[in-house]
Amino acid sequence: MYYNDDSVLFFDGEYMKAKEAKTDLYGQSLHYGYAVFEGIKSYKTANGTKVFKAEEHYDRLRKSAETMLMPFDYSTEEMVEATYKLLEMNNLSNAYIRPIVICSPNMALSKGQKSYLAIEVWNWDNGYMANKMRVMTSSFQRPNPKAFKVEAKVSGHYVNSILACQEAKDKGFDEALVLDENGFVAESSGANIFFEKDGTLITPAKGSILPGITRATVLQLCGELGIPAEERFFKPEEMQGADAGFFCGTAAEIVALDSLDEVSFKLNWEESISSKIQTAYRHLVLEEDYSYLKSSLQYV
Ligand code: PMP
Repeated sequence: MYYNDDSVLFFDGEYMKAKEAKTDLYGQSLHYGYAVFEGIKSYKTANGTKVFKAEEHYDRLRKSAETMLMPFDYSTEEMVEATYKLLEMNNLSNAYIRPIVICSPNMALSKGQKSYLAIEVWNWDNGYMANKMRVMTSSFQRPNPKAFKVEAKVSGHYVNSILACQEAKDKGFDEALVLDENGFVAESSGANIFFEKDGTLITPAKGSILPGITRATVLQLCGELGIPAEERFFKPEEMQGADAGFFCGTAAEIVALDSLDEVSFKLNWEESISSKIQTAYRHLVLEEDYSYLKSSLQYV
């Protein structure tokens, strides 16, 4: 599903066949989750294949490595260049790009000695998920920011995401809403969240979340389109039964929510301001004009 006999990846400075790439079984990355990674997407646009927010993602990867005290000296430019080359070598346009930084063999609980960058790419053609998601409040909390560097994208943090996402699926829901240690809404297992109330979009303030690049893009779109937006802490009760809600993330893009703990959001998605953000985001990643959404919004 992710690679075939011809797929090429980037590993430790070289382009090689995915099926021939090897790593060791004696590292902190495998044993302790001590690795940092990114999730990036590229799109087939009228201007050619474009990696959306490539610099922002690779800057965050560098920051995550630095935060986790890993030696890592690739520049953002080098990684962006390697990504375009890989897409070309694999003949991909609409793709998911997964860079990961792993550390050399070392079983000690001390910082990494040497790191290796791998970049993997695979086809991603299904666009955003059309179905509205039924969400449940998770019994799992987000990692405590006093225990983890939650703003870094660290592999080990995702054990929490797996627990929350699987719990929701086992209970017949599509996804989890994960709260922070104070009971405030944080995010989903792998995406940030917004809800809409009386024409304003509200998203959790930074603190316990991974501050997503898509979340920042939504806030940027709100600014451009004249949609009021707030970053603040709130409890799930405030969000439940609000006008609309959505998850946002590189993979998910903008996904409409159907309900939270079986209480539906009030508006038809198509009538919400949130759906305008979904449309604008789609245009933005495809490098299309979305200024027409601005004028229509002034009358909402
Ligand atoms: N939160 C978590 C826990 C995530 O895994 C992701 C996906 N990277 C996001 C939020 C959204 O981040 P981004 O918009 O940068 O993809």
